[in-house]
This record gives sequence, structure tokens and C-alpha cells, in this order.
Amino acid sequence: MSIAENVARVRAEMEAAALACGRDPREIKLCAATKMNDADAVRQAIAAGVDCCGENRVQELTAKLRENAYEGAPVHFIGHLQTNKVKQVVGKVDLIQSVDSERLLEAIDREAARQGIVQSILLEVNIGEEASKSGFRAEEILPLVEKAGNFPNICIKGLMAIPPISHNSGENLNFFQKMCNLTVDITKKIEDNVTVDCLSMGMSGDFPDAIACGSTMIRVGTAIFGARDYAKASSK
Ligand SMILES: *Cc1c(COP(=O)(O)O)cnc(C)c1O
Repeated sequence: MSIAENVARVRAEMEAAALACGRDPREIKLCAATKMNDADAVRQAIAAGVDCCGENRVQELTAKLRENAYEGAPVHFIGHLQTNKVKQVVGKVDLIQSVDSERLLEAIDREAARQGIVQSILLEVNIGEEASKSGFRAEEILPLVEKAGNFPNICIKGLMAIPPISHNSGENLNFFQKMCNLTVDITKKIEDNVTVDCLSMGMSGDFPDAIACGSTMIRVGTAIFGARDYAKASSK
């Protein structure tokens, strides 16, 4: 199956999931998770109509920016970002989805101020409370949103979550529901530089359930590009 065919199939599944729960399919954006896929694959996904691309690693982002791989679509950063690499990401992407610590918020704010811009971000929630994953605990989000005024060069657009990997439908429903509730909670306590209209959750294995729980952006890699070849990547 070609990338274009895969994107069309994912779109059809998104639409079916939205309609099944009475949502307008246009409310949900498709972000292509492009890690380990080259510029040519990224271009095919954009030509097939994905709404944006999400990159995980700074090095890959920088290389593909240099190749103009994302022309025609916004690019987001969706991986763990070390504070010493913020310069390579702030101002280069439309949205940093994966802000997972207060230290990183501070570093992004400082770099955005230096560049004279406002950087849009999402707060990443470690909703499954997995030791292997970064992200804020759900209960840290409200206090952080209340402090958003401390970061004048950041605009918090919403939340992002990576729940445990799931293979069967229904497995992550409970986590998606928690994210939905958290979004409702923070919407009630909004600060000027916070809007919570973006809820980024759902991947190849579980996006219909995420859509049923209010996701406004799914991040899909495997279902668009096929399985990632980790062996090939490590031998490079
Ligand atoms: C790789 C990745 C995805 C996509 O995962 P698939 O299961 O391949 O769809 C989504 N979000 C993040 C943060 C990722 O790193």
C-alpha cells in the first residue's frame, strides 16, 4: 500500500470514528509521525493531505528542515526535548507538543524571548504514570496552567498524551477519558495565554478510541508509513 492509500484509509477511519460519536470529522487533525522516515516519504504524506508532521528527534528535524521536507505543512516537535537543544526547535516548529517539565517551559520561554516570538506548546501528560515515559502528572497540570502568566513568550494550546502502547481497542479508553476530564477542568481556569482547544492523543493502534474521548489531533506513524525499521536506523 502506498503512503497516499494509507493516508486515505486513516482519514476514512477517522471520519467513521468521529461520526460514530456525533463529532464533526473536521475537528480532528491528522499529524503524521515522521520519525525514521526520509524527506521523500514526508513529502508523499504531505501531498496525500496530512494536516501536519510531527518529528521526534532534533537531529532529524534539522536535517529534514534543511531538505525542505515539510514544505506545504506545519511541523510539530513531538519527542522528548532536552533543554540544551531548545535553540534548534523554538521558532522552527509551529507547535512543541511534548513539553514535559517546568525546566523545559522556562528554557523555551527564554529562547522565545530572545528570538522575540511567542512559541505555541502543549503540555505532555504521563497519563499512564509509566516510569519509562516523561510528562507531567495529571495533578500537576492545573497549578501549571494557573502559572502560565510566568511564561509570557509561551502560548499553551492544550494537552498531549502518550498512554501505554495498546493493541486492542478499548485498552486505553480509561486514559483517554482522564485526559478529556483534565481538559474540561483546565478550561474552567483559563489564563490569558492558555487556550485548551488542542487535545493531542491517539496513535496507529488506538486513535478511534481517542477520537471518541475528544481528541482533536491524532499522531499516526505506522499506519501511514508502515513499520519502522529500527535495525536499519541503528546501523546508519
Ligand atoms: C512514533 C510516535 C507516534 C506514532 O506512533 P505509531 O504507533 O507509529 O502511530 C505518535 N506520537 C509520538 C510522540 C511518537 O513518538
